[in-house]
Amino acid sequence: MALPKSPSPQILVVEDEGELAALIQTNLEPEGFSVLLAPDGETALAVHQHHPSDLIVLDLGLPRMGGLEVLRALRRKQDKVPVLILTSRAGSEDRVQGLHYGADDYLTKPFAMLELVARIRAILRRSGPAEVTKRILESGPFRINLVQFTVHRGRLDLNLSMKEFRLLEVMTSHPGRVHSRQDLVNLAWEHDARPTLRTVDKHIQTLRKKLGDSDEHPIIQTLEREGYRWLLPVR
Ligand code: CA
Repeated sequence: MALPKSPSPQILVVEDEGELAALIQTNLEPEGFSVLLAPDGETALAVHQHHPSDLIVLDLGLPRMGGLEVLRALRRKQDKVPVLILTSRAGSEDRVQGLHYGADDYLTKPFAMLELVARIRAILRRSGPAEVTKRILESGPFRINLVQFTVHRGRLDLNLSMKEFRLLEVMTSHPGRVHSRQDLVNLAWEHDARPTLRTVDKHIQTLRKKLGDSDEHPIIQTLEREGYRWLLPVR
């Protein structure tokens, strides 16, 4: 792939569902990506020809020219831009075909934005000289493994649920920053999930318990109106 042109890799998102496309854009930009949108295959190919992206997020179910056709067209032109395909649950055959035609990875809808960001980073890491993202973080007494989704305190595996892990991952990715409950929902839940903000509080509560958060040893701070903040430094 071409070297990233700027410190912020450019991602082309090809998705005909406008709401989902906008949601993806809203979540990628704060993570340091610049985002171009295309609502269909023809537009995507035209945009990519004039403004080559570092990675393409490609929905397979597009009007007229389908995602697989877009992928084939790119590869026929010997364009090796990394492609992450988005498929619906039913489309397992498409997925296999997509990988056959040279997609780099796939995500099944509905997915969590955090997962999308993680996959994009992983592909860019594999395919280019992009920054090396750390896979194991340390914060206070905790060792956070982003590949195995585990958190250890010493030798003790804290046995987080996937949701608790995602919440922790979001908060530790920006320690000290306040994350609103809605931000946490946007990043840690599947994009079509509509959990109540009370549900977020409940998961934070169980996460706190497992971490051993207490008044004497605070780990996650609650700001009544604003949300939650991870208090420990992360390295
Ligand atoms: Ca679609």
